Amino acid sequence: MSNKNPRLEALKQFNKAADIMHLESWIKEILSYPEKVVEVYIPVKMDNGEVKVFEGYRCQYNNALGPYKGGIRYSPDVDKDEVIALAQLMTFKCALVDLPFGGAKGGVKVDPLKLSLSELERLTRRYTYEIINIIGPSIDIPAPDVLTDEQVMAWIMDTYSIIKGYNEPAVVTGKPVYLGGSKGRKEATGKGVAITTREFLKLFGDDIKGKKVAIQGFGNVGSHSALFLSQMGAIIVAITDMKGGVYNSKGLDIPDLIKYAYYEKDIEGKTKRTVAGYPNADSITNEELFKLDVDIIIPAAVENVITEENAHHIKAKYIIEAANGPTTFEAEEILLNKGTIIVPDILANSGGVIVSYLEWIQDRIGYYWDESEVNSSLEKRLIRVINEVYNTSKKYLVDLRTASYILAIERIANAYRKRGLFP
Ligand code: GLU
Repeated sequence: MSNKNPRLEALKQFNKAADIMHLESWIKEILSYPEKVVEVYIPVKMDNGEVKVFEGYRCQYNNALGPYKGGIRYSPDVDKDEVIALAQLMTFKCALVDLPFGGAKGGVKVDPLKLSLSELERLTRRYTYEIINIIGPSIDIPAPDVLTDEQVMAWIMDTYSIIKGYNEPAVVTGKPVYLGGSKGRKEATGKGVAITTREFLKLFGDDIKGKKVAIQGFGNVGSHSALFLSQMGAIIVAITDMKGGVYNSKGLDIPDLIKYAYYEKDIEGKTKRTVAGYPNADSITNEELFKLDVDIIIPAAVENVITEENAHHIKAKYIIEAANGPTTFEAEEILLNKGTIIVPDILANSGGVIVSYLEWIQDRIGYYWDESEVNSSLEKRLIRVINEVYNTSKKYLVDLRTASYILAIERIANAYRKRGLFP
């Protein structure tokens, strides 16, 4: 992790695109800042009777296009500037894929893997209570992110509904299906990553079949990306996570690896939640993963993992950003000079928020679609945007990230040009 300010780092990319497209200075000024950052201190009664206070945030970056939208992460690395940077990314992601949403992000500084289930529930409910007046189906709609899941979303929805006095499933997305969640939402980000990879390879004259892939991260996004890419004929040779990594030059059996990491228990009876120790492979570290002789690298964990230090070692032709902000601005310059094709986060991982949008619609109209309808709607929208990004990169002679930002900024700028600035 670098010690640069993540908020200012994230702005570098925005500034690059804004300058190329000659964005009006008043819109550039507005988009350089978040609209609101709420900081809360969350007291939680722990199982041993002690009370501990956890630091939490919700950043609402911009809502020119619609209600704020974005996940909530639980991680020891959460801080205010990181949450702001991630909320900025959500703003451009939602605009890029043409959703009627602005951008937001929330976070609590905690290691959820060290909490019991009931401590996690009390933390989530109290955090929800602290931000209850700034969220809602027409205001700001949270969703899962790093180390939060459908259970956490169900607690948020329940707490909100009880306090407001009516059932409100549309206040969060990524809920369990039987509580108003959308079919296909859990798999959506990984599915989007796989579709984006396949389509960009096609546009650059390659074929996904037989391509060697290394993935960093095996949470919801990493594991589903691995699964769908292997179903498309890619060979997943390496995967690393927080506790270790595995490598097999002939390809890993992904369904078996998912079973190992998520269903098998360790000697203490806990779910393993790691690929480490998987028998049919050699072990590998994170640093080694980035040096592998593979066609595609997919960072699917956290931000700032591809840096000036390791960018030189990367041999892969494609980097598909399943995580948010995995490549630093400086690392990207190095990689672009080498001819690496980087498919940016705001496009590659947008499958999650696209299906969140479908979930929000279904909750608001009270009618639920089949999984096939959800999936075909996701694929159709993604392919349309992939082509728009590709064509924009040709038109402006820029990389795919800059092209994505140009498209996203143009949509937000159009809203500002007509809405004007209050008062
Ligand atoms: N946390 C996910 C993201 O970074 C999903 C956000 C959402 O569905 O609102 O895109």
